[in-house]
Amino acid sequence: MLIFIIFIMHSHGLYDIAILNGIVIDGCGNPWFKANIAIKDGIISAISKHEVFKADRIIDANGLIVSPGFIDIHSHSDVTLLVDPLAESKVMQGVTLEVVGNCGSSAAPVMGDFAINRMLRRLSEYNLNLTWSSVDEYLSIMEGNGVSINVAMLVGHGQIRSCVMDFEARSPSLSELEEMKAILKESLEDGAFGMSSGLVYAPGRFAKTEELVELCKVVSEYNGLYATHIRGERETIIDALNEAIYIAEKSGVRVQISHHPPKIGAFGKSIETLRIIEEARKRGLDVACDFHPYIAGSTSLSALLPAWAQEGGLNKIISRLRDPDLRTKIKEDMILEPIPGPGPCGLIKRGLWNMIYLSECNRNRDLIGMNFEEIAKLRGVDPFEAYFDILLEENLSGSIMGFYYDENDIRNVALSPFSMVGSDGYALSPRGVLFKEAAHPRSYGTFPMVIRKYVKGESRSELNYDCGSKIMSLETAIMKMTSIPASRLSIFDRGLIREGFWADIVIFNYDLISDTATYFNPQSFPKGIEYVIVNGVIVVDKGVHTGLKPGKVLRHKPLFMKY
Ligand SMILES: [Zn+2]
Repeated sequence: MLIFIIFIMHSHGLYDIAILNGIVIDGCGNPWFKANIAIKDGIISAISKHEVFKADRIIDANGLIVSPGFIDIHSHSDVTLLVDPLAESKVMQGVTLEVVGNCGSSAAPVMGDFAINRMLRRLSEYNLNLTWSSVDEYLSIMEGNGVSINVAMLVGHGQIRSCVMDFEARSPSLSELEEMKAILKESLEDGAFGMSSGLVYAPGRFAKTEELVELCKVVSEYNGLYATHIRGERETIIDALNEAIYIAEKSGVRVQISHHPPKIGAFGKSIETLRIIEEARKRGLDVACDFHPYIAGSTSLSALLPAWAQEGGLNKIISRLRDPDLRTKIKEDMILEPIPGPGPCGLIKRGLWNMIYLSECNRNRDLIGMNFEEIAKLRGVDPFEAYFDILLEENLSGSIMGFYYDENDIRNVALSPFSMVGSDGYALSPRGVLFKEAAHPRSYGTFPMVIRKYVKGESRSELNYDCGSKIMSLETAIMKMTSIPASRLSIFDRGLIREGFWADIVIFNYDLISDTATYFNPQSFPKGIEYVIVNGVIVVDKGVHTGLKPGKVLRHKPLFMKY
């Protein structure tokens, strides 16, 4: 009996997991150090250079980098995490927390016929039922399902607006504005970390600055973050950035400029935009930004239409596209572009349909991966007609991918001390309904790619226009993926390797780490990520997803520093 007890004591350690002999990069930007880490009950319990911890599970991290789990501050997985909570494309990159609800679009709240019908259409692609209305209900459903990574949510301004005033291209009445504020307040009480806006998309683009100021005052009361896809990222980027800074000034809100590197029409402007952000910070305005390392972006198929053509939503847009005179008018406006649209519109304006690829759709799957010049040729029509026809055939759903970034601007933004990494992608899976044959590779590769491209300086010939350059240390890159985004979110118990912090940890092989996804074969997990631990539970074990769902659905605690 005694021997048995001694055996138990020896085989079962004091801790749940011990990570031994690793090269620790703590997330602060500090130089690496060698240490052992012990995890108990989800928490980093001890860090020691000498003590060899005993634990139920020992991970020998000899020669491997031990880093805080990556935080994806800009994600669109609101619905896909409900479809498949394993979040494979994210967690296999080392992501342990992602922020959904960006660019003005969130899966909650859903109120009013217009917003309900719009959400039902979105969910029907995945055979999901709409079983929530408020942010609280949405988050509770995700909690009930379980999820492999931690999730935080922003509430979308466009979503709130569509609940109150559909897709109407006008300012809200006083009572409508009050209603929007009340919904926003409730969403923040329910745990949203702030509000996002998408001011080149309907319905966000119909909002004037003052509407956003009024709403951001509410966000500011809750110390929330205002993450904005600004009103123009191309020719009008300076005005659009100044609008975001004005909103910070008038409302006191903290502002996150989403996927900041300028798009076609504003190449080279990052020097000026970063200077403007720096000056705003000197004036005490808390403005920062995020970026991904790809020179292609992606957006919905219908987002390329001019603002007026998107007013009123689905049925109205469809009837406009069926009217030959209005088609001509839409085409003219897409060329003249009195109000610059999102990035890919800059390609259209320049006749570069060959740089815009159909990346997602239901009824024309044979065309996925082709660019619109090729599609037009195949159909014997001009690219505009091909685009309009496909929109109708797809009932306005579907996505495009376009090459509209410039590498120099991405590097400038990446090097800025107030930038951080955000994928702008989705949690996907290479199987089932989340298999997207031509989805943007950022959903699978963003974080390893930053290390491969900007720390190791390696290029991948199979990734179009890829151009690696050693521009930052591994410590800096990791800081931009961990402690900086955690601090932006006012999350003060994640994002660092520290005793007492949640054990969200990624362990990777520096020599091997690389993205493997390409623009035309994106369903490919990265290399070199050996272990991913979420809240003290191993979700990726020797490169394989364990199927466990230890993620927490985080709810923002409004009072500053009360974590
Ligand atoms: Zn966006």
